[in-house]
Formats: sequence, C-alpha cells, structure tokens
Amino acid sequence: MTAPYHDLLAKIRICFPQPISNRVHDSYFVHSVMRAMDAVDALKSERPILGQRLPLDYVKAGEASLPESGMSVEDVTAELVQYCSGLAIPGHPHTQQNVIPPPTISSLIGILLASLYNPNLGWDEYSHRLALAEVEMVAMSARLVGYEPDRAGGVFTFGGTGTTLYGAKIGLEKAIPGAMTSGVREDAVIFASEASHYCRYNIAGWLGLGSRSVVTVPADSRNAMNVEAFREQAGAVLRRGGKIAAVIATMGTTDAFGLDDLAAIVAVRDELVEEFQLPYQPHVHADAVIGWAWSVFNDYDFEHNPLGFRPRTLRALAGARLPIHRLSLADSVGIDFHKSGFAPYISSLVLFKQRDDLGLIQRPQEQMPYLYQFGTHRPGMHTIETSRAGGGILAALANMKLFGKQGLQVIIGHIVEMSQLLREHLEGNEWTTVLNRENFGPVTLFRVYPRGIDTFRIKEEESKDVAYRELLRSHNEYNRKVFQYVHQEAMEGRGVVLSLTDCYRTSAYGEPIVALKSFILSPFVDEEQIEVVVRKVLEARNRIDG
Ligand SMILES: *Cc1c(COP(=O)(O)O)cnc(C)c1O
Repeated sequence: MTAPYHDLLAKIRICFPQPISNRVHDSYFVHSVMRAMDAVDALKSERPILGQRLPLDYVKAGEASLPESGMSVEDVTAELVQYCSGLAIPGHPHTQQNVIPPPTISSLIGILLASLYNPNLGWDEYSHRLALAEVEMVAMSARLVGYEPDRAGGVFTFGGTGTTLYGAKIGLEKAIPGAMTSGVREDAVIFASEASHYCRYNIAGWLGLGSRSVVTVPADSRNAMNVEAFREQAGAVLRRGGKIAAVIATMGTTDAFGLDDLAAIVAVRDELVEEFQLPYQPHVHADAVIGWAWSVFNDYDFEHNPLGFRPRTLRALAGARLPIHRLSLADSVGIDFHKSGFAPYISSLVLFKQRDDLGLIQRPQEQMPYLYQFGTHRPGMHTIETSRAGGGILAALANMKLFGKQGLQVIIGHIVEMSQLLREHLEGNEWTTVLNRENFGPVTLFRVYPRGIDTFRIKEEESKDVAYRELLRSHNEYNRKVFQYVHQEAMEGRGVVLSLTDCYRTSAYGEPIVALKSFILSPFVDEEQIEVVVRKVLEARNRIDG
C-alpha cells in the first residue's frame, strides 16, 4: 500500500520539465507556454496596454495567504496572466513613455534557457559554459567601447544602479585603501552632475559615505556637467584634505540624453592628481547605461551614410558620437542591455578598463569555505551577489548576435530619426517649445503654451527671470493638464502614451520646470505616430483653452 502523498507527488512531478528526455512531456511544457501567450494575446486591443487598468486593491492583496492545496499548471497560468492586465506594451507603436524597451524573441529564449537549468554565475563549476558567455560579453562590450580587451574585465550585476555602485566602490577602495575590510572611517565624496541619475544618493548611502557626501555639480544648458564648476568644487574638497571616492560622468542622462564631456573631466582629474600630489587617482566612472549603444556609430561612415539616414538624423548621431567615442577614457563603464539593448530586466554589465581593479574587492577564500575549492573562473569571489543568475547574460549575448553592429545601428538610427521628426513637427508649431534641443537622443522634452504666449522667448524668460515665477508655475499646471488629457486619451486607445517629468530642470530662481516627455524606444514607431503626438497635444490645448 502506497502512502497518500505518493499520488500527490506523482502529480507534482508532472509540473516540472522532465530531467530525463521525454519529448511528449516537452510538448506539454511548450504547450503550457503557448497557452500563456494565447491568454496574454487575448488582453490585447487597440490600446497600448494589456487588458484594463483598474484601481489596485492593496488591502485585499494584503490578505493573501498560502492556499491549503495547490492547483494545476493550467489554472496557475490563468491566474498569472491576470497579473499582466494593465501593463504597458513597451513595443507598441503608441508607447513613447520611458526608457523601457521591448525585449526580442532571442533575449527571451536566453532568459528561459538560463532559468531552465539554473546556472549560478558565481563559479564556473555551477555555470560552466555560461561563464564563457559572460567573458564573451565582457570582451565584446570592452571592444565596442574602446577598452583593450586583454586588460579589461567586468561582471553582470543587478542593474544600472549596481554598475554605478561597483564604480563608486572600487573608487572608494582607491581613495581609502582597505575600506572593504576596515570600514569607511574617513569622509570621501562622490561627484556627479545635477542631471545625473538619482541613484547616486542611494549608492553613497549604501556605501556608508552617506547621501550627503554626494557633491552635485551644476549642469550646463546641454544637460552636461559644467566641468569648470567641477574643477572648482573638486579643488575645494582636496584643499581641505578631503578625498574623492568617485566622479560619475553621465553618458546619456535619463531625462534629456545629456552627455558629459568625459575627456575634459578626465583631464581635470589628471591635473588635480598632479597639483595635489594625490597618492591615488580619483576613479572616473561613466554611467553609460543608456548611451553605450551609440558606440555602434563609432566607426560609422558618416560621409557615405550607407544606411541612408536623413541629414538631421545623421547630425544627431554624429553629435552623440563625439562624446561617446571617448568612453574608453573612463576607468569603468556601466551598460544596461535592458535599456538600449532590448533585453528584459535585469541585464546590466559593469566594465573596468583594468580588470585588476576588481582585485580591490576580492574576498579571501577562508570566508567562503564551501565554495571555490577548484575551477579557474570564480567571479563570486568579488561580486556583490552570491547567487547570480545567467539570464541577463544570455539575453544580452542573444541580442548582440541577433542584431550585430548593423542591426543596432538600424534600431538606434530609427528611434533617433523618429525623435528628430517629432522635434521637426513640434518646432513647426508656434505653441510648443522643445527644451532639450541640443541633446541628440531618443528623448524629447517639450512644453506646450496657451494662446497669447510668445513661445520664441518664453523658454529663456521663464528659466532666468524671477519675475516669471507665477507664469512658470501656471504653465507647469497647464502642461500637467495637457499630459492628463493626452494620457487619458491614450488609455482609451486614442493617441500616444507620453510621460511627464516634474522637474526637467530648476529655473535660475529655484522653481521646477515641468515638461512633457516623449521617449521613443520601440522599433515599431513610425511617422504616423509622430503626427498623432502633435495632433493630440493640439487637441488638449483646444480643450483647455476652451
Ligand atoms: C536607468 C538609469 C540608471 C539606473 O539603472 P537601473 O538599471 O534602473 O538600476 C542609472 N543611470 C542612468 C543614467 C539611468 O538612466
């Protein structure tokens, strides 16, 4: 007589992919995936979201508890699909919302494969050939940004924030040797521009420096770090005997695609080392989580333009190329394949020009007695993670093989072409102003004005003259209303989903400037959807002005 649990166990075993080859069962597995896809497909409509957006009941969610008995794979799938309802469809031609790309088929297969057999990238004993995939991605990316591959090194980690954390951590070890073992017992600061990502505060906090040790350098009108201001601020820190843990150069800001002048920042760093006879070289980390992909244009033939981009697009690509092709001057570079690389979350790589830098955060073997007794490749001895998934690595590798340099040039070129087209349309109206005119990326920030406003002068006046405070505020409100209308319409299947930034920049007198934001990252966007943006914004204006 068998125990009652045996019957249940037999059912449970069916819920796993079979460890021993079983083609019949494989087709059950694939079929289950198909069913999930079918069910998600049924949520699609003319709207750029799946299913519906209903109010979220967190109180009810808080009542969840483990069910007494389980359900079938089919029933679980049906439940899971419900959680997708209301999600934005990042690839939808009507989505211009944020830096969230649609993932490719190959990258999704990469995630699946790297999950099926659960490789752990900490050690090649547990990841085997996936360790090679990571080394290949490090080499490929190092070559792309201009590092010498036989000296460079890197690891995949938990996001763009993780890549900047690595850069700042290595920099901290250089400034305060032994901080990893003895702790941070001195002050050190992190420099980044006001247009840089807010993760700088988080990183400084988690590193034990405190978010107050972030020195924010003003940005210029192109949303790039004011390097003269950096020189002065850094000089002041060093004169009072302070230390510099890291300088973060942003290569593609999140809101405006501002690009810092890395060469100038590195030159200032070198001068300061000389002037103050520093015993360490302050670490320069390039936060290129968005901008890295523009490296595919480093050797594009701009003169003959083989891909046939329009002159305006070509100019935008060439403008971005100037700062991007200096990426190799940075001591480390952060790359998000889950942003401009069309991979699903999480797929982020931090590269170091000198792989030996990673030795600064190596843990001694004695701390990890049950691991790393043999094998040659043990990134787990210096990574922040213990278990580290391979999905992000295979997804990135999949896309690099799928697209090649040319494919990436086509996608990046197209989204830049579409955002240039949008600017052309917006600038063709007297009631809109493009704010980040001098940034050449996929993101366009603009403001809409009511009738009677001279849009040729208002941008300058609002941002500089304190007498415009009230007017600036009322235009902020106006733009929020435009956003709400356009958003509501898009959710009903009429128009395009944009986003709103509460503070594109602050005015000279300290007032936040609100802006509408179009972030084009879907290869499915075409001229037609660009025209829709302009039409919808005009419609909103007519409604509000009455
Ligand atoms: C998105 C972003 C980050 C943070 O990256 P995550 O992958 O979201 O952690 C950091 N810097 C910039 C410039 C970004 O755009």
